[in-house]
Amino acid sequence: MTVNLYNTEGRQVEPFKPIKDGKVGLYCCGPTVYNYAHIGNLRAFMFEDILRRTLEYAGYKVKHIMNITDVGHLTDDGDDGEDKMIKAAREKGMSVWDIARFFTEAFIDDTKKLNILTPTMYSKATEHIEDMINMIRTLEEKGFTYVAGGNVYFDSSKFPEYGKMALLDKQDLQHGARVVVDINKRGPQDFVLWFTESKFENQAMTWESPWGVGYPGWHIECSAMSCKYLGPHFDIHCGGIDHIQVHHTNEIAQSEAANGEKWVNYWCHNEFLLMKTGKMSKSKGGFLTLQSLIEKGYDPLDYRYYLLGGHYRSQLVFTWESLESSTTARKNLVQKIGNMKKASQVVSLDKLGEQARIKLSDFNEHIAADLMTPRCLADLWGLLKDNSISDGEKLAVAFEMDRVLGLNMSSYIVEDDKFEISPEDQTLIDERAEAKKSKDFLRADEIRDIFSNKGYVLVDSPDGTFLKKK
Ligand code: AMP
Ligand code: ZN
Repeated sequence: MTVNLYNTEGRQVEPFKPIKDGKVGLYCCGPTVYNYAHIGNLRAFMFEDILRRTLEYAGYKVKHIMNITDVGHLTDDGDDGEDKMIKAAREKGMSVWDIARFFTEAFIDDTKKLNILTPTMYSKATEHIEDMINMIRTLEEKGFTYVAGGNVYFDSSKFPEYGKMALLDKQDLQHGARVVVDINKRGPQDFVLWFTESKFENQAMTWESPWGVGYPGWHIECSAMSCKYLGPHFDIHCGGIDHIQVHHTNEIAQSEAANGEKWVNYWCHNEFLLMKTGKMSKSKGGFLTLQSLIEKGYDPLDYRYYLLGGHYRSQLVFTWESLESSTTARKNLVQKIGNMKKASQVVSLDKLGEQARIKLSDFNEHIAADLMTPRCLADLWGLLKDNSISDGEKLAVAFEMDRVLGLNMSSYIVEDDKFEISPEDQTLIDERAEAKKSKDFLRADEIRDIFSNKGYVLVDSPDGTFLKKK
Protein backbone atom coordinates (compact mmCIF):
# COMPACT_ATOMS: atom_id res chain seq x y z
CA MET A 1 0.00 0.00 0.00
CA THR A 2 1.47 3.37 -1.02
CA VAL A 3 0.51 6.14 1.40
CA ASN A 4 -0.04 9.51 -0.26
CA LEU A 5 0.44 12.59 1.88
CA TYR A 6 0.01 16.30 1.38
CA ASN A 7 3.44 17.83 1.80
CA THR A 8 3.31 21.48 2.87
CA GLU A 9 6.69 21.84 1.17
CA GLY A 10 5.58 21.78 -2.47
CA ARG A 11 1.87 22.16 -1.55
CA GLN A 12 0.80 18.88 -3.14
CA VAL A 13 -0.13 15.30 -2.36
CA GLU A 14 2.87 13.02 -2.92
CA PRO A 15 3.47 9.28 -2.58
CA PHE A 16 5.37 8.69 0.63
CA LYS A 17 8.84 7.23 0.11
CA PRO A 18 10.86 6.47 3.23
CA ILE A 19 14.55 7.28 3.58
CA LYS A 20 15.21 3.77 4.89
CA ASP A 21 13.20 0.85 3.52
CA GLY A 22 10.32 -0.12 5.78
CA LYS A 23 11.09 2.53 8.41
CA VAL A 24 9.72 5.98 9.20
CA GLY A 25 11.21 8.68 11.41
CA LEU A 26 8.30 10.85 12.62
CA TYR A 27 8.64 13.97 14.76
CA CYS A 28 5.62 15.77 16.18
CA CYS A 29 5.71 19.10 18.00
CA GLY A 30 4.25 18.25 21.39
CA PRO A 31 2.31 20.25 23.95
CA THR A 32 3.35 23.22 26.02
CA VAL A 33 2.58 22.05 29.54
CA TYR A 34 1.53 25.14 31.46
CA ASN A 35 -2.17 24.33 31.12
CA TYR A 36 -4.49 21.53 30.01
CA ALA A 37 -4.51 20.69 26.32
CA HIS A 38 -7.70 22.05 24.76
CA ILE A 39 -9.77 20.01 22.33
CA GLY A 40 -8.15 21.93 19.45
CA ASN A 41 -4.67 20.83 20.56
CA LEU A 42 -6.01 17.31 20.81
CA ARG A 43 -7.08 17.49 17.18
CA ALA A 44 -3.40 17.87 16.25
CA PHE A 45 -2.40 14.80 18.26
CA MET A 46 -5.32 12.81 16.86
CA PHE A 47 -4.25 13.64 13.30
CA GLU A 48 -0.71 12.51 14.11
CA ASP A 49 -2.11 9.30 15.59
CA ILE A 50 -4.06 8.56 12.40
CA LEU A 51 -0.96 9.26 10.34
CA ARG A 52 1.16 6.94 12.47
CA ARG A 53 -1.48 4.20 12.50
CA THR A 54 -1.82 4.45 8.71
CA LEU A 55 1.94 4.12 8.22
CA GLU A 56 2.00 1.10 10.54
CA TYR A 57 -1.03 -0.36 8.77
CA ALA A 58 0.92 0.04 5.51
CA GLY A 59 3.70 -2.05 7.06
CA TYR A 60 6.22 0.57 8.23
CA LYS A 61 8.00 0.50 11.54
CA VAL A 62 7.51 4.02 12.87
CA LYS A 63 9.86 5.75 15.30
CA HIS A 64 7.63 8.46 16.71
CA ILE A 65 9.20 11.21 18.78
CA MET A 66 7.19 13.90 20.54
CA ASN A 67 8.66 16.71 22.60
CA ILE A 68 7.17 18.10 25.77
CA THR A 69 7.76 21.85 26.00
CA ASP A 70 8.26 22.07 29.74
CA VAL A 71 10.48 25.13 29.69
CA GLY A 72 8.36 28.24 29.70
CA HIS A 73 8.71 29.74 26.27
CA LEU A 74 7.15 33.14 25.93
CA THR A 75 3.72 34.13 24.79
CA ASP A 76 5.19 35.59 21.64
CA ASP A 77 8.25 34.72 19.71
CA GLY A 78 10.20 37.75 20.86
CA ASP A 79 11.13 38.61 24.40
CA ASP A 80 7.85 40.41 24.77
CA GLY A 81 5.30 38.04 26.24
CA GLU A 82 4.84 36.70 29.69
CA ASP A 83 6.57 33.49 30.71
CA LYS A 84 3.67 31.05 30.55
CA MET A 85 5.06 28.58 33.05
CA ILE A 86 5.79 31.25 35.66
CA LYS A 87 2.36 32.78 35.16
CA ALA A 88 0.69 29.38 35.67
CA ALA A 89 2.87 28.61 38.70
CA ARG A 90 1.96 31.95 40.28
CA GLU A 91 -1.76 31.43 39.62
CA LYS A 92 -1.79 27.88 40.99
CA GLY A 93 0.67 28.45 43.84
CA MET A 94 2.91 25.62 42.59
CA SER A 95 6.55 25.51 41.46
CA VAL A 96 7.20 25.69 37.72
CA TRP A 97 8.57 22.14 37.83
CA ASP A 98 5.40 20.86 39.49
CA ILE A 99 3.25 22.74 36.98
CA ALA A 100 5.13 21.08 34.11
CA ARG A 101 4.86 17.62 35.70
CA PHE A 102 1.17 18.04 36.49
CA PHE A 103 0.14 19.14 32.99
CA THR A 104 2.40 16.59 31.28
CA GLU A 105 0.59 13.83 33.16
CA ALA A 106 -2.79 15.40 32.36
CA PHE A 107 -1.83 15.52 28.67
CA ILE A 108 -0.72 11.89 28.56
CA ASP A 109 -3.90 10.90 30.36
CA ASP A 110 -6.02 12.72 27.73
CA THR A 111 -4.22 11.02 24.85
CA LYS A 112 -4.70 7.59 26.44
CA LYS A 113 -8.42 8.25 26.86
CA LEU A 114 -8.60 9.16 23.18
CA ASN A 115 -6.82 5.90 22.29
CA ILE A 116 -3.90 7.84 20.83
CA LEU A 117 -0.86 5.55 20.59
CA THR A 118 1.98 6.45 22.94
CA PRO A 119 4.96 7.83 21.01
CA THR A 120 8.09 5.71 20.87
CA MET A 121 9.49 8.42 23.09
CA TYR A 122 8.40 11.62 24.79
CA SER A 123 11.40 13.94 25.00
CA LYS A 124 11.25 16.68 27.61
CA ALA A 125 12.92 19.96 26.72
CA THR A 126 14.32 20.36 30.24
CA GLU A 127 16.19 17.04 29.88
CA HIS A 128 17.89 18.09 26.63
CA ILE A 129 19.43 21.46 27.43
CA GLU A 130 22.93 20.16 26.70
CA ASP A 131 21.87 18.98 23.22
CA MET A 132 20.44 22.44 22.53
CA ILE A 133 23.63 24.13 23.74
CA ASN A 134 25.67 21.85 21.47
CA MET A 135 23.56 22.76 18.46
CA ILE A 136 23.82 26.49 19.22
CA ARG A 137 27.60 26.03 19.52
CA THR A 138 27.71 24.41 16.07
CA LEU A 139 25.66 27.28 14.65
CA GLU A 140 28.04 29.73 16.30
CA GLU A 141 31.11 27.96 14.88
CA LYS A 142 29.56 28.03 11.42
CA GLY A 143 28.87 31.77 11.66
CA PHE A 144 25.06 31.71 11.86
CA THR A 145 24.70 33.56 15.17
CA TYR A 146 25.33 36.89 16.84
CA VAL A 147 25.06 38.07 20.41
CA ALA A 148 23.08 41.21 21.20
CA GLY A 149 21.70 42.51 24.46
CA GLY A 150 22.98 39.38 26.22
CA ASN A 151 21.03 36.94 24.00
CA VAL A 152 22.24 34.67 21.20
CA TYR A 153 20.34 35.18 17.95
CA PHE A 154 20.07 33.16 14.75
CA ASP A 155 21.08 35.39 11.87
CA SER A 156 18.53 34.57 9.18
CA SER A 157 20.35 36.68 6.58
CA LYS A 158 23.08 33.99 6.57
CA PHE A 159 20.57 31.33 5.51
CA PRO A 160 19.38 32.25 2.00
CA GLU A 161 16.64 29.58 1.94
CA TYR A 162 14.97 31.09 5.02
CA GLY A 163 11.17 30.85 4.74
CA LYS A 164 11.12 28.58 1.66
CA MET A 165 8.76 25.96 3.10
CA ALA A 166 6.38 28.65 4.40
CA LEU A 167 6.56 30.46 1.03
CA LEU A 168 7.51 33.66 2.84
CA ASP A 169 8.16 36.38 0.33
CA LYS A 170 9.58 39.88 0.51
CA GLN A 171 6.18 41.27 1.44
CA ASP A 172 6.03 39.06 4.53
CA LEU A 173 9.50 40.19 5.47
CA GLN A 174 8.43 43.82 5.17
CA HIS A 175 5.37 43.08 7.26
CA GLY A 176 7.56 41.40 9.86
CA ALA A 177 9.74 44.49 9.89
CA ARG A 178 6.80 46.64 10.94
CA VAL A 179 5.89 44.50 13.92
CA VAL A 180 9.40 43.88 15.17
CA VAL A 181 9.73 44.87 18.83
CA ASP A 182 13.07 43.42 19.86
CA ILE A 183 15.61 46.17 19.26
CA ASN A 184 18.48 43.68 19.52
CA LYS A 185 17.45 41.87 16.36
CA ARG A 186 19.39 42.76 13.22
CA GLY A 187 16.64 41.43 10.99
CA PRO A 188 12.92 40.90 11.59
CA GLN A 189 13.19 37.14 10.99
CA ASP A 190 16.07 36.60 13.43
CA PHE A 191 15.17 34.73 16.59
CA VAL A 192 16.65 33.91 19.97
CA LEU A 193 18.59 30.67 20.42
CA TRP A 194 19.66 31.36 24.00
CA PHE A 195 18.41 33.95 26.48
CA THR A 196 20.60 35.27 29.25
CA GLU A 197 18.70 38.52 29.47
CA SER A 198 14.99 38.36 29.73
CA LYS A 199 12.83 41.25 30.79
CA PHE A 200 11.37 38.96 33.44
CA GLU A 201 12.99 38.83 36.80
CA ASN A 202 13.37 35.64 38.83
CA GLN A 203 13.55 33.35 35.82
CA ALA A 204 12.77 30.05 37.53
CA MET A 205 14.31 27.64 35.02
CA THR A 206 17.88 28.52 34.11
CA TRP A 207 21.00 26.61 33.11
CA GLU A 208 24.73 27.33 32.72
CA SER A 209 25.86 27.88 29.14
CA PRO A 210 28.88 29.24 27.24
CA TRP A 211 26.91 32.50 26.88
CA GLY A 212 25.96 32.81 30.54
CA VAL A 213 23.20 31.51 32.78
CA GLY A 214 19.90 31.46 30.96
CA TYR A 215 17.45 29.32 29.03
CA PRO A 216 16.93 28.19 25.44
CA GLY A 217 14.68 29.76 22.83
CA TRP A 218 11.67 27.66 21.91
CA HIS A 219 12.55 26.64 18.35
CA ILE A 220 15.97 25.13 19.15
CA GLU A 221 14.29 22.52 21.34
CA CYS A 222 12.59 20.70 18.45
CA SER A 223 15.67 20.83 16.22
CA ALA A 224 18.01 19.49 18.90
CA MET A 225 15.73 16.69 20.08
CA SER A 226 14.55 15.51 16.65
CA CYS A 227 18.14 15.36 15.33
CA LYS A 228 19.26 13.52 18.44
CA TYR A 229 16.70 10.75 18.10
CA LEU A 230 15.97 10.66 14.36
CA GLY A 231 19.26 11.86 12.85
CA PRO A 232 20.04 14.97 10.79
CA HIS A 233 17.72 13.89 7.94
CA PHE A 234 14.40 12.18 8.65
CA ASP A 235 11.06 11.47 7.02
CA ILE A 236 8.09 13.35 8.49
CA HIS A 237 7.56 16.36 10.74
CA CYS A 238 4.07 17.32 11.95
CA GLY A 239 2.30 20.10 13.77
CA GLY A 240 -0.65 22.46 13.46
CA ILE A 241 -0.74 24.96 10.59
CA ASP A 242 -0.04 27.82 13.01
CA HIS A 243 3.53 26.54 13.20
CA ILE A 244 4.34 26.87 9.49
CA GLN A 245 5.26 30.54 9.37
CA VAL A 246 7.49 30.90 12.40
CA HIS A 247 8.22 27.80 14.46
CA HIS A 248 8.79 25.32 11.65
CA THR A 249 10.45 27.93 9.46
CA ASN A 250 12.94 28.62 12.25
CA GLU A 251 13.39 24.92 13.00
CA ILE A 252 14.34 24.31 9.34
CA ALA A 253 16.74 27.26 9.24
CA GLN A 254 18.70 26.28 12.34
CA SER A 255 18.69 22.50 11.65
CA GLU A 256 19.84 22.81 8.04
CA ALA A 257 22.36 25.51 8.93
CA ALA A 258 23.82 23.32 11.70
CA ASN A 259 23.77 20.01 9.81
CA GLY A 260 24.55 21.31 6.32
CA GLU A 261 21.95 19.05 4.67
CA LYS A 262 18.24 18.78 3.94
CA TRP A 263 16.45 18.08 7.19
CA VAL A 264 12.88 16.80 6.69
CA ASN A 265 11.30 15.21 3.60
CA TYR A 266 7.57 15.60 4.37
CA TRP A 267 5.90 18.41 6.31
CA CYS A 268 2.36 17.51 7.39
CA HIS A 269 0.15 20.09 9.08
CA ASN A 270 -3.34 19.86 10.51
CA GLU A 271 -5.96 22.59 10.20
CA PHE A 272 -7.56 24.15 13.25
CA LEU A 273 -10.55 23.21 15.31
CA LEU A 274 -12.47 26.42 15.91
CA MET A 275 -15.32 27.46 18.15
CA LYS A 276 -18.24 29.38 16.66
CA THR A 277 -16.84 32.37 18.51
CA GLY A 278 -13.38 31.95 16.93
CA LYS A 279 -10.03 30.53 18.00
CA MET A 280 -9.38 28.61 21.19
CA SER A 281 -6.41 29.92 23.09
CA LYS A 282 -4.44 28.09 25.74
CA SER A 283 -2.83 31.26 27.01
CA LYS A 284 -6.07 33.27 27.17
CA GLY A 285 -8.12 30.48 28.80
CA GLY A 286 -11.86 29.90 28.34
CA PHE A 287 -11.43 26.77 26.25
CA LEU A 288 -12.87 23.26 26.22
CA THR A 289 -10.88 20.34 27.56
CA LEU A 290 -11.47 16.62 27.11
CA GLN A 291 -12.41 16.50 30.78
CA SER A 292 -15.15 19.08 30.23
CA LEU A 293 -16.66 16.81 27.54
CA ILE A 294 -16.44 13.83 29.88
CA GLU A 295 -18.18 15.82 32.61
CA LYS A 296 -21.02 16.46 30.19
CA GLY A 297 -21.43 12.70 29.81
CA TYR A 298 -19.49 12.10 26.59
CA ASP A 299 -17.11 9.22 26.16
CA PRO A 300 -13.64 10.38 24.93
CA LEU A 301 -14.12 8.05 21.95
CA ASP A 302 -17.18 10.10 20.95
CA TYR A 303 -14.77 12.98 20.44
CA ARG A 304 -12.39 10.70 18.54
CA TYR A 305 -15.29 9.64 16.28
CA TYR A 306 -16.25 13.30 15.84
CA LEU A 307 -12.72 14.21 14.72
CA LEU A 308 -12.60 11.29 12.27
CA GLY A 309 -15.65 12.84 10.61
CA GLY A 310 -13.57 15.80 9.37
CA HIS A 311 -10.53 15.71 7.12
CA TYR A 312 -7.43 16.87 8.96
CA ARG A 313 -6.70 19.60 6.37
CA SER A 314 -10.15 21.19 6.71
CA GLN A 315 -11.14 23.57 9.43
CA LEU A 316 -13.66 22.12 11.82
CA VAL A 317 -16.08 24.31 13.75
CA PHE A 318 -16.99 22.60 16.99
CA THR A 319 -20.66 22.49 17.98
CA TRP A 320 -22.41 20.46 20.64
CA GLU A 321 -24.95 19.35 18.07
CA SER A 322 -22.29 17.77 15.88
CA LEU A 323 -20.64 16.09 18.85
CA GLU A 324 -24.09 14.79 19.77
CA SER A 325 -24.59 13.22 16.33
CA SER A 326 -21.15 11.61 16.51
CA THR A 327 -22.08 10.22 19.91
CA THR A 328 -25.25 8.72 18.50
CA ALA A 329 -23.41 7.25 15.52
CA ARG A 330 -20.76 5.71 17.75
CA LYS A 331 -23.41 4.31 20.05
CA ASN A 332 -25.00 2.62 17.06
CA LEU A 333 -21.60 1.26 16.12
CA VAL A 334 -21.10 -0.18 19.60
CA GLN A 335 -24.55 -1.76 19.39
CA LYS A 336 -23.99 -3.22 15.93
CA ILE A 337 -20.50 -4.57 16.58
CA GLY A 338 -21.48 -5.77 20.07
CA ASN A 339 -24.48 -7.71 18.72
CA MET A 340 -22.42 -9.29 15.95
CA LYS A 341 -19.72 -10.29 18.41
CA LYS A 342 -22.33 -12.05 20.55
CA ALA A 343 -23.58 -14.16 17.67
CA SER A 344 -20.68 -14.66 15.24
CA GLN A 345 -17.08 -15.75 15.05
CA VAL A 346 -14.57 -13.44 13.36
CA VAL A 347 -13.59 -14.84 9.96
CA SER A 348 -9.88 -14.87 9.20
CA LEU A 349 -8.78 -12.28 6.65
CA ASP A 350 -7.59 -14.83 4.08
CA LYS A 351 -11.09 -16.36 4.02
CA LEU A 352 -12.93 -13.14 3.10
CA GLY A 353 -15.40 -13.26 0.21
CA GLU A 354 -15.24 -10.95 -2.81
CA GLN A 355 -17.64 -8.28 -1.43
CA ALA A 356 -15.87 -8.03 1.93
CA ARG A 357 -12.52 -7.73 0.18
CA ILE A 358 -13.83 -4.90 -2.01
CA LYS A 359 -15.01 -3.02 1.09
CA LEU A 360 -11.60 -3.33 2.70
CA SER A 361 -9.79 -2.26 -0.42
CA ASP A 362 -12.05 0.83 -0.74
CA PHE A 363 -11.12 1.71 2.80
CA ASN A 364 -7.41 1.17 2.08
CA GLU A 365 -7.64 3.40 -0.96
CA HIS A 366 -9.29 6.18 1.02
CA ILE A 367 -6.96 6.13 4.01
CA ALA A 368 -3.95 6.03 1.69
CA ALA A 369 -5.29 9.10 -0.15
CA ASP A 370 -4.02 11.65 2.35
CA LEU A 371 -5.95 10.13 5.26
CA MET A 372 -9.54 10.66 4.11
CA THR A 373 -11.09 9.58 7.40
CA PRO A 374 -14.63 10.84 6.61
CA ARG A 375 -14.68 8.51 3.58
CA CYS A 376 -13.28 5.72 5.75
CA LEU A 377 -16.15 6.07 8.24
CA ALA A 378 -18.57 5.88 5.30
CA ASP A 379 -16.75 2.73 4.15
CA LEU A 380 -17.18 1.23 7.61
CA TRP A 381 -20.92 1.90 7.60
CA GLY A 382 -21.21 0.66 4.00
CA LEU A 383 -19.66 -2.60 5.16
CA LEU A 384 -21.90 -2.96 8.20
CA LYS A 385 -25.07 -2.33 6.17
CA ASP A 386 -24.21 -4.69 3.31
CA ASN A 387 -26.52 -7.72 3.51
CA SER A 388 -24.39 -9.76 1.12
CA ILE A 389 -21.55 -9.91 3.65
CA SER A 390 -21.66 -12.30 6.62
CA ASP A 391 -21.36 -10.95 10.17
CA GLY A 392 -18.12 -12.87 10.71
CA GLU A 393 -16.60 -11.19 7.65
CA LYS A 394 -17.94 -7.81 8.72
CA LEU A 395 -16.24 -8.18 12.08
CA ALA A 396 -12.95 -9.17 10.45
CA VAL A 397 -12.99 -6.20 8.10
CA ALA A 398 -14.21 -3.73 10.75
CA PHE A 399 -11.42 -4.78 13.14
CA GLU A 400 -8.90 -4.36 10.33
CA MET A 401 -10.23 -0.84 9.65
CA ASP A 402 -10.06 -0.17 13.36
CA ARG A 403 -6.27 -0.60 13.31
CA VAL A 404 -6.35 2.89 11.73
CA LEU A 405 -9.56 4.36 13.15
CA GLY A 406 -8.63 3.41 16.72
CA LEU A 407 -12.22 3.22 17.98
CA ASN A 408 -11.44 0.17 20.10
CA MET A 409 -14.11 -1.92 18.37
CA SER A 410 -12.89 -5.29 19.61
CA SER A 411 -13.79 -4.23 23.15
CA TYR A 412 -17.44 -3.40 22.37
CA ILE A 413 -20.00 -5.38 24.27
CA VAL A 414 -23.72 -4.88 24.33
CA GLU A 415 -24.81 -4.35 27.87
CA ASP A 416 -28.12 -5.79 28.95
CA ASP A 417 -28.52 -2.88 31.29
CA LYS A 418 -32.20 -2.11 31.01
CA PHE A 419 -33.51 -0.79 34.28
CA GLU A 420 -36.63 0.91 35.56
CA ILE A 421 -36.69 4.68 35.18
CA SER A 422 -38.52 6.50 37.94
CA PRO A 423 -41.43 8.79 36.92
CA GLU A 424 -39.42 11.81 38.17
CA ASP A 425 -36.45 10.89 35.97
CA GLN A 426 -38.74 10.33 32.99
CA THR A 427 -40.22 13.82 33.51
CA LEU A 428 -36.71 15.26 33.49
CA ILE A 429 -35.81 13.36 30.31
CA ASP A 430 -38.95 14.69 28.62
CA GLU A 431 -38.22 18.20 29.83
CA ARG A 432 -34.73 17.98 28.36
CA ALA A 433 -36.11 16.83 25.00
CA GLU A 434 -38.42 19.87 25.02
CA ALA A 435 -35.56 22.18 26.06
CA LYS A 436 -33.43 20.90 23.19
CA LYS A 437 -36.29 21.35 20.76
CA SER A 438 -36.71 24.96 21.80
CA LYS A 439 -32.90 25.44 21.76
CA ASP A 440 -32.75 26.05 25.51
CA PHE A 441 -29.36 24.32 25.69
CA LEU A 442 -28.63 25.76 29.11
CA ARG A 443 -31.55 23.83 30.67
CA ALA A 444 -30.76 20.75 28.56
CA ASP A 445 -27.18 20.80 29.88
CA GLU A 446 -28.41 21.30 33.44
CA ILE A 447 -30.53 18.18 33.17
CA ARG A 448 -27.62 16.24 31.67
CA ASP A 449 -25.55 17.33 34.68
CA ILE A 450 -28.26 16.22 37.12
CA PHE A 451 -28.11 12.71 35.67
CA SER A 452 -24.33 12.80 35.50
CA ASN A 453 -24.21 13.53 39.24
CA LYS A 454 -26.47 10.52 39.81
CA GLY A 455 -24.07 8.29 37.83
CA TYR A 456 -25.99 8.15 34.54
CA VAL A 457 -25.26 9.23 31.00
CA LEU A 458 -28.06 10.40 28.72
CA VAL A 459 -27.74 8.84 25.30
CA ASP A 460 -29.66 10.37 22.41
CA SER A 461 -30.54 8.08 19.54
CA PRO A 462 -32.98 8.10 16.64
CA ASP A 463 -35.27 5.98 18.88
CA GLY A 464 -35.31 8.60 21.63
CA THR A 465 -33.21 9.33 24.68
CA PHE A 466 -32.32 6.66 27.18
CA LEU A 467 -30.29 6.40 30.36
CA LYS A 468 -27.07 4.42 30.66
CA LYS A 469 -25.09 3.71 33.79
CA LYS A 470 -21.67 5.42 33.65
P1 AMP B 1 0.65 23.95 21.99
O1 AMP B 1 0.49 23.09 23.20
O2 AMP B 1 -0.05 25.24 22.09
O3 AMP B 1 2.11 24.11 21.61
O4 AMP B 1 -0.04 23.18 20.77
C1 AMP B 1 0.08 21.79 20.54
C2 AMP B 1 -0.34 21.47 19.11
O5 AMP B 1 -1.69 21.84 18.87
C3 AMP B 1 0.47 22.19 18.03
O6 AMP B 1 0.76 21.28 16.98
C4 AMP B 1 -0.48 23.27 17.54
O7 AMP B 1 -0.20 23.66 16.22
C5 AMP B 1 -1.81 22.58 17.65
N1 AMP B 1 -2.99 23.44 17.79
C6 AMP B 1 -3.13 24.53 18.58
N2 AMP B 1 -4.38 25.04 18.52
C7 AMP B 1 -5.08 24.21 17.69
C8 AMP B 1 -6.44 24.17 17.23
N3 AMP B 1 -7.35 25.05 17.65
N4 AMP B 1 -6.81 23.19 16.37
C9 AMP B 1 -5.91 22.27 15.96
N5 AMP B 1 -4.61 22.24 16.34
C10 AMP B 1 -4.20 23.19 17.22
ZN1 ZN C 1 8.37 22.08 17.32
